[in-house]
Order: sequence, then C-alpha cells, then structure tokens
Amino acid sequence: MAQVTKAQLSQTQASSQAATSQASSAQPSALHSAATQSSTEIPQVTSESVGQENGLLLLIHGGAGDRGPKNSPKRRAQIAADLERALDAGYAVLDAGGAAEDAVCAAIHIMEDAPEFNAGRGAALTSDGTVQMDACLMTGDGEVGAVAGLMTARHPIDAARAVKHQTKHVLFAAPSENELADWGVATEDPSYFVTEQRKASLANAQAHGDAWEKHGTIGAVARDARGDIAAATSTGGITNQMPGRVGDSPLPGCGNYANAATIAVSGTGIGEAFVRAVAGRQLSDRIEYARQTPQDAAEATLNDIAKHRGDGGIIVVPSHGQGVIAFNSEMMNFGYRCGQSTRVNS
Ligand code: ASP
Repeated sequence: MAQVTKAQLSQTQASSQAATSQASSAQPSALHSAATQSSTEIPQVTSESVGQENGLLLLIHGGAGDRGPKNSPKRRAQIAADLERALDAGYAVLDAGGAAEDAVCAAIHIMEDAPEFNAGRGAALTSDGTVQMDACLMTGDGEVGAVAGLMTARHPIDAARAVKHQTKHVLFAAPSENELADWGVATEDPSYFVTEQRKASLANAQAHGDAWEKHGTIGAVARDARGDIAAATSTGGITNQMPGRVGDSPLPGCGNYANAATIAVSGTGIGEAFVRAVAGRQLSDRIEYARQTPQDAAEATLNDIAKHRGDGGIIVVPSHGQGVIAFNSEMMNFGYRCGQSTRVNS
C-alpha cells in the first residue's frame, strides 16, 4: 500500500467533512489515500474502513463522479436526506432480524424512487432520450439475478430479484411486459422515469460532450445477524449512452458481486472500465487468493480500473471484518450504518 502523506490525509478529511453537512458525529475509523503510480497517471484513491468487524452493517452509494452542478447545497442536502431514508429503510430490516438480501432491496427501493439518483425515476437518458435501466442482486451463496434494458419497471431491482428467485436463469435483456407482469414486477409509463434534470443533462452532454453528470448509479451491500451478505446495484447507465448499451451494473462479478468467502461489493463509475477489470470478482479474488485486506484490495482494484480508463467508487461489506468505502473519482455519494455509528456523504 502506498505511504499516506499528511497532505493527502488532511485534504481527504477536509473534503469529506465539508461534504457531510447532514452527517452524524461518527468519525471515519480509518481514512487514507493511495495511488500505486504518480498521481498524473493514476487518480488518487480515497478509502475508508467503517463499522465493526462483525454484526449488522449496511453501506449504500448514490453514484460517484465529478461535482459539477451537483455541488449546489440544495441538491447535496436532498441527496443526503435521501441517503438517510435509504439507510433507515435498509437498517430497519437488519435490526428486525431480516436478511441482508431484504435489507439491500429496501434501501434500493427508496433510492429508485428518489429522482436525484440515476436509477428508477430520474434514470439517465440515452442519446435518443429514452430510459434503459439495469439492475443486479446477488447473495453470498452465489445466487444472482440481473436485468438489462428495462423501460417500464418501477423498481428494476425487483425484476433482478424475480430473475434470481423465479427463473432458472441469471440475466435477462429487456424482458417483455408479460414477463414483468408474470413476475409481479410493478411498471410505469416510460414518461414516469424522465425528469427535467435528466433532460437538461442530456442536452448539455450532447452540446458540450459527455463530461458532466455521467454518474449516479445506486448500490447497497449488507451483512445480517446470521453473517450472510448481499449486494444490489441499480442504474440508468450513463447519460447520452447509445441505446442498447449495457454497463457493468447488471453483470455479476463486474459492478455487483457477492461471495460468502469474501465480500459483497457494489460499484459505480465508468462501466466499461469496471467490466474490463472484472472489478467485483477481482476485488474478491485479491482477498481470497492474494490475502489482501478488503481496504488494500479495494484500492488496488480501483487502480486497475483506472488503468482501464475509468474512475468511480465501490462499497464493500465482508462476511467478517469492517466495511470499506473507496473511490478514485472526485466524489462519491455514500452512507453507512452499524449500530449507533452512521454517516452520509453527498
Ligand atoms: N456504472 C454505471 C454504468 O456504467 C454508471 C454509473 O455508475 O453511474 O452503467
């Protein structure tokens, strides 16, 4: 692991604290930055270990990227409030003795309904102005369901869950309205998902290039009272993506992965780089076979994602050990809860 300089640490702490206006008093238990090569080649990774080694733990993210217009205090406060509500919903399930799978889905539901996030209502728009949503749900036992190219499912994570539990398959591309109905997945008119904010993002991307507001995917990872872990990720992809493009989020082992021997992980960022790096499985393998700590493995995986021309962030919950929040983008919206210890960052 790279040496942590005082300058890096104070810079990281300053930006983290500045962004936690809604945060509780809980402080990060470990916070540092690392890059394996010079910072001009590989963006610096900011990482943090959170929570306790065992027991209930819930981590969520609401996308990573550059601040851009997201920097307005009003939007940051709204995102922080939405993250709090998602933590409340997910952690209530864990607190009541529920399964990690139920907890991550409860947290994702809140964020899919919240238009600030790039999932469900408020999903990013493709270059032709349509919404095409992807989602994946995986549990530590290796069971997984995923969907790509949804245009009407109100909660794409419900469709992923239906694939996991109601079919013998793993991944469906653009399931029909009849299939969604058979699976009991609620749908909305495609116009429900389209917000003025996303229309403005698309117009801006098409006028000035794709550089701003390209992230916002949501994810949740949890460990329940039995020590079972689960990961869920839901996204509208990337603003101005070509219709039909599928990113990392619905691909098990890339943007979403769970393995009882190691970790549950959800990612957000440039999906193509997460796919090329096989990010989720790479992170798990680093822990299982290279015996890296989850924090070292998270940093190394993000450095590999950077080599594949991507940035973004990951949230990690191990079967045993502290959770990890790590990103090599300018910022990441995230939150965690573990007993009385809780915090959101927007
Ligand atoms: N990873 C997502 C994708 O490439 C986008 C994001 O995280 O915002 O589809």
